[in-house]
Amino acid sequence: MTDKKTVLITGGSRGIGKACALELAKAGYDVIINYVGNVDAANQTVEELKTLGSNSKAFRFDVTDADAVSAGISEIIETYGKLDALVNNAGITRDGLFMRMNSENWNAVINTNLNSAYNVTNFVAKLMIKQRHGAIVNMSSIVGIYGNAGQANYAAAKAGLIGFTKALAKELGSRNIRVNAVAPGFIQTDMTKDLKLDGVEEHIPLRRLGQPEDIAKAVKFLIEDAEYVTGQVLAVDGGLVV
Ligand code: NAP
Repeated sequence: MTDKKTVLITGGSRGIGKACALELAKAGYDVIINYVGNVDAANQTVEELKTLGSNSKAFRFDVTDADAVSAGISEIIETYGKLDALVNNAGITRDGLFMRMNSENWNAVINTNLNSAYNVTNFVAKLMIKQRHGAIVNMSSIVGIYGNAGQANYAAAKAGLIGFTKALAKELGSRNIRVNAVAPGFIQTDMTKDLKLDGVEEHIPLRRLGQPEDIAKAVKFLIEDAEYVTGQVLAVDGGLVV
C-alpha cells in the first residue's frame, strides 16, 4: 500500500478533472484518473502527473456502467490499497430545448452526470467507511442551482448531485467522511468550446470566464483543507450568480 494519500478523479483525463488531478498531485497525492474514450489525453495526463511525483495510473471504464465501475474500482483498490478522496467529476452535456429533448439525450445526461455518482460512490463509500475517513467532492454546476434554458437534463442532474451531496454528508459525517460539491460557472474546457460565450464576461462580476485551475483550487481546498466543512456547495463562478 502506498504511504501517500490517494484520490480517484472520474473524468480526470481532460478539462476540470485534469486540473484537479494536477493540483492534488502538487499537494502530494497519488492521483488515479478515470476516463472513457480518449486514450491519448489520459496517457498525456498520467505523464504530467508522474513528473509531479505522483504514482498515477489511468483506468478506463464507463461510469454509467455499474459492472464496469465495480471491476474498475476493484482493480484500483488492488493496486493502491486505499482511497482517501474521490472526485465525482465525469460529465457530459446534450443541450436542447425541453420540448425537443428526446429520452436518449435526457437519459445520457442523467446517467453520466448523476447515476455515475451513485455507481462510483457506492463502492468507494464502503471502502471509506472501513478506513474510517474520506473526502468526496461532487462536480455540480451553477445550472443545478439556478437552471438554464436548453439544459433541463443537465440542470436536473446537477441539482440531483446537490441533494445527493447533502444527504450523504448527513449519513457519512459520523464515519469521518466529508461530502461537498463544487458548482462551477462558465469554465473554458472542451465542454464549453462550441458555446457562443461572446459578451458573457460582461455579466460576470470578475469579468472573465473561469479556467479549470480555478475549480481545481476549490476542490483541493474541500479535500485537503476544509476539515470542518461538509454538505456544502461551493460556487466558483466569478460571482455570476451571487
Ligand atoms: P470535458 O472537458 O468535456 O471532460 C469530460 C471528462 O469526463 C473527460 O475526462 C471524459 O473522458 C470524462 N467522461 C465523460 N463521460 C464519461 C463516462 N461515461 N465515463 C468516464 N468518464 C467520462 O468536461 P469539463 O468541462 O472538464 O467538465 C468536467 C465536469 O465539470 C463535468 O461534470 C461538468 O458537467 C462540470 N462542469 C463544467 C463546467 C464548464 O463550464 N466546463 C461548468 C459547470 C460544471 P474522455 O476524455 O475519455 O472522453
